[in-house]
Amino acid sequence: MIPYGRQSISAADVAAVTEVLQSDWLTQGPAVERFESCVAAYCGVPHAVAVNSATSALHIACLALGLGPGDTLWTSPNTFVASANCARYCGASVDFVDIDPRTYNMSVERLAEKLAQAAAAGKLPKVVIPVHFAGQSCDMAGIDALAKQYGFKVIEDASHAIGGRYRGEPVGNCRYSDLTVFSFHPVKIVTTAEGGMVLTRSAELNERLVRLRSHGITRDPSLMHGASQGPWYYEQIELGFNYRMTDLQAALGASQMTRLDEFVARRHELVRRYDDALRELPVTLPWQHPDSYSAFHLYVIKVPQRPGKGRREVFEALRARGILVNVHYIPVHTQPYYRELGFREGDFPQAEAYYAEAITLPLYYSLTYEEQDQVIKAVKEVVR
Ligand SMILES: *Cc1c(COP(=O)(O)O)cnc(C)c1O
Repeated sequence: MIPYGRQSISAADVAAVTEVLQSDWLTQGPAVERFESCVAAYCGVPHAVAVNSATSALHIACLALGLGPGDTLWTSPNTFVASANCARYCGASVDFVDIDPRTYNMSVERLAEKLAQAAAAGKLPKVVIPVHFAGQSCDMAGIDALAKQYGFKVIEDASHAIGGRYRGEPVGNCRYSDLTVFSFHPVKIVTTAEGGMVLTRSAELNERLVRLRSHGITRDPSLMHGASQGPWYYEQIELGFNYRMTDLQAALGASQMTRLDEFVARRHELVRRYDDALRELPVTLPWQHPDSYSAFHLYVIKVPQRPGKGRREVFEALRARGILVNVHYIPVHTQPYYRELGFREGDFPQAEAYYAEAITLPLYYSLTYEEQDQVIKAVKEVVR
């Protein structure tokens, strides 16, 4: 069996976690601070807040930007449900912007059109979440220009994209956004088992995120409503959560970060081999925008809809050969929960057309050439 993605855990990773297990701190402590500094330094951004998942990261990112009831958040329909659900946690509405048929990322043209309509109707979004699908950055300069024109905030969902670059700079540096979110789920580029992080250039947003991560509690006298009652004193000044990452997870993450460039370079090597081997087949290979150096979380091919030889048949035939292909993503607006909110099939035709043909092939750091050749052979047999 060859999975579509999996983690790579080294002896150094195990040693780093073991060391924390034998230390005084298990939950959020010095290892979390080290991990945050390490990711912040890698991305070239001053602030990073580690949390227990990217889902939590998206939630507190929305809250830090003041998203609430009466507000609207826009995201891509071609994403994991978490990119949209974060708005619902805050009591806000969700809408989607259709994708670009080449990158499968949010289309900046569709975004511009939809903003012009929304401005006319007085219904502009407060927050837009572009998702760097498969590890390839969205057109962030284009989105940033629209953010300035229409006055919305931007959270990059970079769950797929740590280690990737946009216009030569690391994804996560927040040059074109207010906040960036990473996921450290085991199928992602770097793992902490479960985990996420929010990055920002804003000291103010950072302070808010830190507080929301831990119950809305502050120990900063300047933020307290009353005088300190003693050295034990703290105040809860808003409603937060327990979204803390443990030191065990952070030690794993910091250790994994030392191999991040190697992880991404290997993914690129495997992508080149797929591209070369599959070029002649009647399938669409991933297209790369020249502005982007993808982290290549996913390698997605599109299988044209042909009777008896479409995506479903190819998917099942590959699974039968022990290749655990997957599909990313079922358009979020077609999920029953979102249909209940009024969305319909046909609302975002590019995302739906993409979904009808997409298959994710195995791609991960420890995939061997022999295993990849097995995948290639199977794809050739099944698609021809
Ligand atoms: C994985 C993923 C998430 C959620 O990440 P968790 O760490 O599992 O909460 C959010 N958005 C996208 C695009 C993802 O792929």
